[in-house]
Amino acid sequence: MDIGSTLYHLQELDTEKDAAQRRLSEIEAVLGENEALKRARHALKTAQEQLKKWSKQQRELDLQIQSIANKRARSEKRLYSGEVTNPKELTDLQSEITSLQRRKRKLEDELLEAMIALEESENAQTQAQQHFDQTESQWLGQQANLKAEQQQLQSRLIEIQQARAKLPPQISTDKLAAYDTLRAKKSGLAVVKINGDACGGCGVSITPALKWELRQQEMAYCGNCGRIIVPV
Ligand SMILES: [Zn+2]
Repeated sequence: MDIGSTLYHLQELDTEKDAAQRRLSEIEAVLGENEALKRARHALKTAQEQLKKWSKQQRELDLQIQSIANKRARSEKRLYSGEVTNPKELTDLQSEITSLQRRKRKLEDELLEAMIALEESENAQTQAQQHFDQTESQWLGQQANLKAEQQQLQSRLIEIQQARAKLPPQISTDKLAAYDTLRAKKSGLAVVKINGDACGGCGVSITPALKWELRQQEMAYCGNCGRIIVPV
């Protein structure tokens, strides 16, 4: 390979390396949990908490109602037992029974509300779970694709590294240093092909003298942009 082709090959490898590294940074930025997954998990957690709250509420109301019913049964038993004869005590028992009855009815209304809320929160929880599962499976698929692409790019970078190390020795250290400096200054593009009679980098026509130099040395520096032009 002549020096021009070798430099051009080097540029191709480095251009590919730059693109691979850019894509790897993009992948790294999107790997991990995304907003949709975080939101779905948060919604599921909220729905689960609501469900827990209402089922606890229902249990507590059930127990309270049961306890009032027992109390009332005891009072009624005592009232009709014939053991209590004192009129004041009988009246007190009667009003206690009435009050317990009122309290029980109020709690039963609350229980009905809790049961409705519980049913609604069960539905909400089912929906939130479905949404989370769907979002998570999409996310897992996306992560798998990104990881596969990441691996592919990483192996390609190793290949590029190896190909770069095997470049023929006609590229002197000086030329390589000039190439690296140019690449840093020219957004990564140091070596361009000749494009008709113009520089493939900046498009400015090349002088006859430069053309002659190109033919003689297989490379020349563009008088306008300073890039290395090769006659490939
Ligand atoms: Zn140029």
